[in-house]
Amino acid sequence: MSRDASNASDGPPALRTTAVSAGYGAAGNAVTDLSLRVPQGQVVSLLGPNGAGKTTVMRAVSGLLGLHRGRLTSGRVELFGKDMTGSRASQRVRAGLAQCLEGRMVFPGLSVAENLASGGHVRRYRGAALTEARDEVLALLPRLGDLLDRKAGYLSGGEQQMLAIARALMSRPKLLLMDEPSLGLAPRIVEQVRDIIVSINQHGTSILLVEQNARMALSISGYAYLLEGGRVYAEGTPATLEQDNDIAAAYLGVGTEPVVPRGADS
Ligand code: ATP
Repeated sequence: MSRDASNASDGPPALRTTAVSAGYGAAGNAVTDLSLRVPQGQVVSLLGPNGAGKTTVMRAVSGLLGLHRGRLTSGRVELFGKDMTGSRASQRVRAGLAQCLEGRMVFPGLSVAENLASGGHVRRYRGAALTEARDEVLALLPRLGDLLDRKAGYLSGGEQQMLAIARALMSRPKLLLMDEPSLGLAPRIVEQVRDIIVSINQHGTSILLVEQNARMALSISGYAYLLEGGRVYAEGTPATLEQDNDIAAAYLGVGTEPVVPRGADS
């Protein structure tokens, strides 16, 4: 499937992986020969069934494979045109990357304010710089402003997801990796998460979005990759993928209904 010319951007892509293969010990590669691109300013989705390798791609990009006893076996990872293949996770954060992990992963015993401050640590934000970053994030997620003193463990699932997103934003990323932000949330909350992702993107942050909720992801993406068995099975704009009946029925969780719902014009 061909790449959409509208994906072109002036600068280097926020993210480019070239022929990346990665795996976990003797089990072989969980991801094979994966090349993908997130143009600056875009939302790009990585879709696929359980075990397709989506999280492994995220780990390869963030530099966290080693933490999970995995390793990159070949290929190249570039952030904003710079080769980061061998770089530590912290160097990638300094290059503008932040990751919002699957399962929310907030610190339950810490308050919302403390969780946010922890997100600013990677940038060594303190005092006025920390307040400034926090104000920026709370402007995008105002609901959290009312919950600053509450322990994160007492928040609802939706609020914890908002907090996980907010914490990732505290480092002012230029590229945000989001792993299943809609997982386990009620449809109404999924809508809110969707709107927040749109708003983050409108403020200039490029996003690689891993989702099993293909409908939600495609409704806000300019481009999508469909992963199956660790390889790219198909890629294209949401409209292109939607038009392929076999792909739509087998992988996107849709039949003949349109994949792109309200408000999306691409
Ligand atoms: P899901 O949607 O279920 O989260 P996924 O598409 O994100 O799945 P991955 O989590 O990347 O898929 O898993 C890809 C393959 O790698 C799977 O076969 C999985 O069992 C294996 N895998 C993932 N993490 C590890 C690990 N730490 N050690 C060994 N194998 C792993």
